Amino acid sequence: MKVHTEEIHVQTAHGIALVDITHEVEDIAKKSEVRQGTCFVYTPHTTAAIIINEHEDGLMKDIVSKVSSDFPKGAGWHHDKIDNNAHSHLASTYIGPSRSIPLVNGRIRLGTWQSIFLLELDGPRTRSVIIQLMGNPESQ
Ligand code: ZN
Repeated sequence: MKVHTEEIHVQTAHGIALVDITHEVEDIAKKSEVRQGTCFVYTPHTTAAIIINEHEDGLMKDIVSKVSSDFPKGAGWHHDKIDNNAHSHLASTYIGPSRSIPLVNGRIRLGTWQSIFLLELDGPRTRSVIIQLMGNPESQ
C-alpha cells in the first residue's frame, strides 16, 4: 500500500462561497503513484466544509442561500458571544470537513457533472485542503 499526501492553499471570498478545487485534486491524483484506492479530501478548519456537486452558477447560488437560511447568522447562538460566527461552525459541523472519492486507474472517479468544492463558511480567509491518496500502485 502507498500513501501520497499533499496540501493546497485556497483564498476564499467574503461570507459563504464555493471554490472549485477539482483540477487541483485531479492533478495531485495524476502525479501520485497510487493507482487504485481512495482519494480523501479534507479541510482542517472549523468553519469550512468540502462538498461535491455540479459547477453550475445557479446551483452554486442556491447552495449559498440554502446554507444561509438553514444556519442563520445571529440567531441567539451561544458561540456568538465569543467571536460572532456560530452559524459558520454549525454549518461546518453538519456538512462536514471531508469527502472521499474512489481512485480508479490513477484518476478520481467523479461523475460527469460532479466537481469538488471547498465551501467557505466564514470568509474571506486562506484555507488549507489536504488531499490524501491511499491504495495500491498497480492498475486493475
Ligand atoms: Zn468561532
